[in-house]
Amino acid sequence: MKPSHIEHIGIAVKSLEETIPYYEQLLGQKCYSVEEVADQKVKTAFFKLGDTKIELLEPTSEDSPIAKYLEKNPHGGVHHIAFCVEGVQKALEDAAQMGIQLIDKAPRRGAEGLNIGFLHPKSTHGVLTELCENPNK
Ligand code: ZN
Repeated sequence: MKPSHIEHIGIAVKSLEETIPYYEQLLGQKCYSVEEVADQKVKTAFFKLGDTKIELLEPTSEDSPIAKYLEKNPHGGVHHIAFCVEGVQKALEDAAQMGIQLIDKAPRRGAEGLNIGFLHPKSTHGVLTELCENPNK
């Protein structure tokens, strides 16, 4: 596995409405996309800095993984880091071979039409790690 860059950093927030203006000021740009990802029970908002995006994540349901994160981290915080790879399926298999516990054994569809798969923080030194690729590239 050899990721090309950090595709995005996922940040858990209680409210997109309250957080977007902060990032718009901090980054000197408008949020370019807000999208609901039903599969992950989140609403996302995106900013782009070079090749890397900032992905804000607001839970849309109490059993959302982001809602659980916010129970433990009530102010929000960095939720995951996403590496861009060529071929998520192969990268997940590589990770499994390295002895890393997978959350996703096969890629699924994430925000922005990316193929994504998560590695378990128990075997990534505490960092929830996402592998993703843009299938339309
Ligand atoms: Zn992500």
